[in-house]
Amino acid sequence: MSSCRAPVCKPLDRPDTRGVPFNDYSPQRGIRRAFCGCVKDNPLENFNGFGLAAPLLTALTKMGYAKPTPIQAEAIPVLMNGRDLVGIAQTGSGKTAAFALPILNRLIADKRPAPRGGARALVLSPTRELASQIAQSFRDLSAGLALDIATVFGGVPHGAQIRALARGLDVLVATPGRLVDHLDARVANLSAVEFLVLDEVDRMLDLGFIKPIRRIVRELPRKRQNLFFSATMPPDIRRLAGELLHEPHEVSVTPAATTVDSVEQTVIHVDAPRKRDMLVELFADAALTRAIVFTRTKHGADRVARSLDEAGISALAIHGNKSQGQRERALAAFRSGASRALVATDIAARGIDIDDVSHVVNFELPEVAEAYVHRIGRTARAGRAGQAISLCDASERDSLRAIERLTRLRIFSLDRRGDKGPKPAPVVRKAATPPAPDRPHHLPHRNPRSAGQQPHRARPGRRARPAYQARSAPAR
Ligand code: AMP
Repeated sequence: MSSCRAPVCKPLDRPDTRGVPFNDYSPQRGIRRAFCGCVKDNPLENFNGFGLAAPLLTALTKMGYAKPTPIQAEAIPVLMNGRDLVGIAQTGSGKTAAFALPILNRLIADKRPAPRGGARALVLSPTRELASQIAQSFRDLSAGLALDIATVFGGVPHGAQIRALARGLDVLVATPGRLVDHLDARVANLSAVEFLVLDEVDRMLDLGFIKPIRRIVRELPRKRQNLFFSATMPPDIRRLAGELLHEPHEVSVTPAATTVDSVEQTVIHVDAPRKRDMLVELFADAALTRAIVFTRTKHGADRVARSLDEAGISALAIHGNKSQGQRERALAAFRSGASRALVATDIAARGIDIDDVSHVVNFELPEVAEAYVHRIGRTARAGRAGQAISLCDASERDSLRAIERLTRLRIFSLDRRGDKGPKPAPVVRKAATPPAPDRPHHLPHRNPRSAGQQPHRARPGRRARPAYQARSAPAR
C-alpha cells in the first residue's frame, strides 16, 4: 500500500471509511483501494486525487463542488484510464460531472482541432433541456479554457447549428433526431469522435430513439471511448450496452428503481374532484418554496397551472406542446423564483436540473411506476432534503400499489376523503395572462378549445356546472 506524500497522511491498510455516510460506500472496492484513505487525496473527500488538470480543479472550486458524489468517486478513475463505462445512476447523482471531467481532462491534455462538421466528444441526450444543461455543465467545468461546445436539438432553426458544426467542435451535445437530420444533410461528420456518451439511455429508448442512435453509431470510428448512463437497466438496455461498449466497467450508485433516500414521501388520499382544492391547500404552507407539480396530460398541466394562478399561486406549465421559447421562459421564471410552481408532464420534466426544488407534488400518479422514481428525484438533489407529496384518488389505487411494490416502501398516507376533504380553494384572481398558445410551432392550427386555450363556456340555455362536476357528469 503506497502512502500519500502529504505530510499529514499516514499509510492505511484500507481506506478509513468511518463516518462516511452509507450512500458514499462504493461497491467497487478495487477502485477505493487505489487511495490511501487520507482526506487529502481520497476521492471520497475531494477531487485532488484524480489527476485532473489544474484549471478543472479551479472550476470545481468555483462551482462549490468540494466533495465528489459517489458516482464521481467511482467513475472518474475508470474513465481516466480510458475504459468504457456503464453507469446505473439517476439524474441528481452528479453523473454529468462524472463523465464531463475525464473527457475535458483528455481534450485539454491533447488539444487538436476537430474536422469541419465534426466533434471530438459526442453526448447524446433524450431531451433538449437535458442537452442544454449538459452543455452548460461542460462550459462551467471548462471555464477559461476556450473549448468549443455546442448543442444540436430539434424545435429551433438549423442555421446556427450548421454554423457551429462547421467550426469543428470539442464537445457536441445532441438529441438523436436532429443530429440524424444533420447527418442526412451531410453537414455533420462524426468520423473523428473520440468519446461517445449516451445519457439517460432508458429515456432515449422510451422516446423511440433506438433507430437514430444506431444510425449515429454507424457513423462513428471504431476506436473510441464509450460511456453509457441509464437510471434503470432492464434486459433490452443491457443488450444495447453489450452491443455498443467494449468490456465496460459497471458502476451502480443507486440500485435501479429505488427511491432517493433523502426524499420524505407522503400520499394523500383525496376525492378526485377535490384535488385542485387539496393542491391549493398544500401551497398555503410556506415551506413549498419551489415545487414541481406533475400531471399525466398536457391539458391537465395547463388546467392545474391555471387553477393555481387563479388561487394566487404563481405557476407555469411546461409540456410537449409548448414552443422552445415558452419552455425556456417557464424554466427561467421557476429558476429565478418568479414562479413558485412548475406544472409538468413526465416527458417535459425529463432531465430538468433545477436546484433547491423543495417539493415534488404528484397531482396525478404516473401510469408507469418507474416514472414515480424519476419524478421524486427532481427534489433532494445533490444530497439536499426534499419532499414528495402524491394526491391519490380512488381510480389511482392500483398505480399506488405498483409504486409501493417497485420501491419496496409503504408510503406514509393521510386520509382527506369525504368530510375530511380540503376547503374549496378561493379564486383570488382571474388567470393573470391569457394562457400562452399551446400550439407547437410545427403543427397546423388546432381547435383552440381542445388545446385548452379558452375556458369552457356553457352553451346558452344550459346551466354552467361547477368545475368539479365537469368530469364526472355523463357525456351527452
Ligand atoms: P446531475 O446528476 O449531473 O444532473 O447533477 C445533479 C446536481 O448536482 C447538479 O445541480 C450539479 O450541479 C450538482 N453536483 C454535481 N456534482 C456535485 C458535487 N461534487 N458537489 C456538489 N454538487 C454537485
